[in-house]
Amino acid sequence: MNLTSAPQIRTLLAAHGLHPKKRLGQNFLIDRNVLDRIVDATGAGQGVNVLEIGPGLGVVTRELAERGARVVCVETDRELEPVLKDVLAESNVEIVIEDFLKLDLHEFFQSRSGGKWVVAGNLPYYITSPIIAKLIEAKANVSAIVMMVQREVAQRLQAAPGTEDFGALSVFVQYHCGIQSVMRVSKNVFFPIPDVDSEVVKLTILETPRVSVQNEQLFFKIVRASFGKRRKTLLNALSSDDNVGWNKDQARAALEKAGIDAGRRGETLSLEEFAGISDAG
Ligand code: SAM
Repeated sequence: MNLTSAPQIRTLLAAHGLHPKKRLGQNFLIDRNVLDRIVDATGAGQGVNVLEIGPGLGVVTRELAERGARVVCVETDRELEPVLKDVLAESNVEIVIEDFLKLDLHEFFQSRSGGKWVVAGNLPYYITSPIIAKLIEAKANVSAIVMMVQREVAQRLQAAPGTEDFGALSVFVQYHCGIQSVMRVSKNVFFPIPDVDSEVVKLTILETPRVSVQNEQLFFKIVRASFGKRRKTLLNALSSDDNVGWNKDQARAALEKAGIDAGRRGETLSLEEFAGISDAG
């Protein structure tokens, strides 16, 4: 069965009495070129472990397995299980039916030995951030994440300080990962056609974070506080945040020690400058 053919997907769904579920972001990929580029970006081959989140009808899954990778896929929609079993009948793929956000990732990796995992995912866009956060939390077991994301999210991930798209998500992901745009993807390569254009990005987990900080928790509290109140100066943002817990004098002293003008706004700061404030605190 050609899973990049819309008519064949329609037939497959009809044979199982199914319709794409909008609430689960079920827009299935129907483009051979995009499929190849995603699978190429994972580096799938013999000896590579791939965890795929949201396999849908198995279009990416089957290709990953055909390249020789060990593949485990996690799909939340139980109704897709028979389809996946059908499509992947000849492939050596483990199918896990569960909401990825509820999956115990620690247990998942512990019970499947064999080194690090590459993650592949084309998921509903409203859960992109929690999924990335969950994977980065488990980064000891993850080498890279190849993900289809909404174009705007791809811009935020890659944004530089001082630009409109630069925010707490940019800092969080840039701190932990190298970020590469694999390709831009038109909404027309999905069935049914979604509302937004997409981009495939590859996040490669860095061996050591991009900047060194003495207290990672404080670093991220400062980042969140700085972006939480975008119109405030750094001095006001950092001295009015319960999580950071600094009064005006403490915030002023930390900024001065780090050599940062207290009147600047958070979105203009580089990761090194955030690290400087954090280490001065
Ligand atoms: N990978 C397939 C493709 O490219 O055609 C399907 C992509 S479709 C955009 C998203 C898939 O993620 C759907 O199959 C959906 O049921 C599944 N999904 C949605 N939320 C999920 C979650 N929390 N955990 C696991 N899978 C999820």
